[in-house]
Amino acid sequence: MNKTLILVVEDDAPVRNLITTALRMHDYRYIVAPNGESAILEASSHNPDIVLLDLGLPDIDGVDVIRRIRMWSNMPIIVISARSEDGDKIGALDAGADDYLTKPFSVEELLARLRVTQRRLSIMQADGAASVFVNGRLRVDFAAGCAYLGEAELHLTPIEYKLLCLLARNVGKVLTHTFITQNIWGRSWDSDIASLRVFMASLRKKLESEPDSPQYIQTHIGVGYRMMKLD
Ligand code: CA
Repeated sequence: MNKTLILVVEDDAPVRNLITTALRMHDYRYIVAPNGESAILEASSHNPDIVLLDLGLPDIDGVDVIRRIRMWSNMPIIVISARSEDGDKIGALDAGADDYLTKPFSVEELLARLRVTQRRLSIMQADGAASVFVNGRLRVDFAAGCAYLGEAELHLTPIEYKLLCLLARNVGKVLTHTFITQNIWGRSWDSDIASLRVFMASLRKKLESEPDSPQYIQTHIGVGYRMMKLD
């Protein structure tokens, strides 16, 4: 039984109804908030498992809602944005959102994002501080500083290894170019984002059996990358 509690923040009543109907049919529990101030209030009083947050709200900006929730909580936040708000979506991820949906979205897409986030939640709860990360055939031994694919050790350069660890520690979460380059190089110039592409391609060549249809690392064009949790 699915008893995950979702906070739905959306000012547009038809979209809100579409979401809550889908949640109800799939046995999620939910609460709703029609604006940013009530979203912050509901988040703090009900401590939901996942927040679905529309970025275009009538009172305060969705990105500010994320910043305020992030002051006290790591609860997963999936943002919902219109296509015209692409820059806002990246701003939202940089402010600490976990994932995004672009309007118009299908119910299947919504449910798929929720499942990815739930899997990420269970990993965070089960072994958030584990020293070994296992995902499909990939194993990263943080303490020893090595990574394996099946039985074979992956021969990674220091930057490829750092990149792999960053993705692994945030498995299931979309990481923006800015976030990654800040973490790897401590800055985020255009040239760093270009280098990131090169390092990502070489990491994939070592990690993925088919680098052109990657299993482990998803590309989000114009946004960043995400490591998927494999079964
Ligand atoms: Ca809206």
